[in-house]
Amino acid sequence: MARVYNWQLGREMSYWYPEARPKRQFAAVFDTNKCIACQTCTLACKTTWTSGKGQEYMLWNNVETKPYGSYPLAYDLKLLDMLNGQAWDGSKYEGQTIFESAPAGERVLGWRPEQQDYAYPNVGEDDCAGQVDDGKFLSLPHMNWFFYLARICNHCTYPACLASCPRGSIYKRPEDGIVLVDQSRCRGYQECVKGCPYKKVFFNPMTGTSEKCIACFPKIEQGIQPQCFVNCIGKIRLAGWISKPDEARADNPMDYLVHIKKVALPLFPQFGLEPNVYYIPPIHAPNSFNEQLFGPGAAEAVKTYRNAMNDRDLAGLLCMFGSTEMVVSRFRRQGDIVTASDDKGGEQVRIPMYEPVHIRPAMDTKNQLVRINCP
Ligand code: SF4
Ligand code: SF4
Repeated sequence: MARVYNWQLGREMSYWYPEARPKRQFAAVFDTNKCIACQTCTLACKTTWTSGKGQEYMLWNNVETKPYGSYPLAYDLKLLDMLNGQAWDGSKYEGQTIFESAPAGERVLGWRPEQQDYAYPNVGEDDCAGQVDDGKFLSLPHMNWFFYLARICNHCTYPACLASCPRGSIYKRPEDGIVLVDQSRCRGYQECVKGCPYKKVFFNPMTGTSEKCIACFPKIEQGIQPQCFVNCIGKIRLAGWISKPDEARADNPMDYLVHIKKVALPLFPQFGLEPNVYYIPPIHAPNSFNEQLFGPGAAEAVKTYRNAMNDRDLAGLLCMFGSTEMVVSRFRRQGDIVTASDDKGGEQVRIPMYEPVHIRPAMDTKNQLVRINCP
């Protein structure tokens, strides 16, 4: 085991290989407050990459309803139970990661789902925490709550799938940090399926090899965001490049949201993988639940997000989600206009923060008509 630095834990930790960060790291921010669970992302991925034989149950992208939804079944609860006693001291994680608590002779603490665990991807869908009794109605903050959690592979800095593979078939690309399975080396031992705490590697019984989300790397290589991003109806997603905290740049959307504003947080940082998909937590869920999922920064992130209307740069960047199919390297707000640009400064999109409002009179004398849909 090597000693590596995990900034999400605020400390060093043990990992199977020495620290080897890529030239730049693919990353994403998902705004949970905007997801409507339409599953367009799921289908966009499914029809692009996993429509073949042996891939029927594979959802490289899935959207689950929290608190009860999960795919495969209870993937998160099982590991949280196994991990036992995850303690934070401020922003420093004092508990053990899945690498540090691996049983003797194993590289990672994990478990392999049964076939049945993949059988009901919609269990828990739209189930809220608590019962809505007769006479109750929705108020703010919600008496009862649920939210949608869209999930893809996190292209982790310290991937458990990679650490678990006895064949060395899984690799992290040095040019963009995308984690891939080399199909020609894989022998189907499924150690990666057992090791990934997010259960984002799937075994294909037809080919006898494991497969996983590839972050649509042929698109990334062209500077275009993955399928699940560009097809997102709720415009909850933004892809980009994340730096280490001490190298964060204020004009880099990922750095700004994750390191500077700290409004987007990793999923289950306590597992120790330094995942690179970041979530803006749901503002109506209890903080204790948000903290379990997103770590100790959850309450502050919600506060920052709620204040976005008074923070013009943050509001401007949030407007940019879903506005371009290109991967955005830089952003800039000038007045009410936000621009996105690529690595070389070439403008990709220019968007207004506010749409003009046109109020039309109910009685249009010029055209001699009455607009019946006017309030
Ligand atoms: S989320 Fe799972 S499959 Fe993806 S890189 Fe991390 S450990 Fe590997
Ligand atoms: S397409 Fe977007 S809004 Fe629809 S379920 Fe997926 S992440 Fe949520």
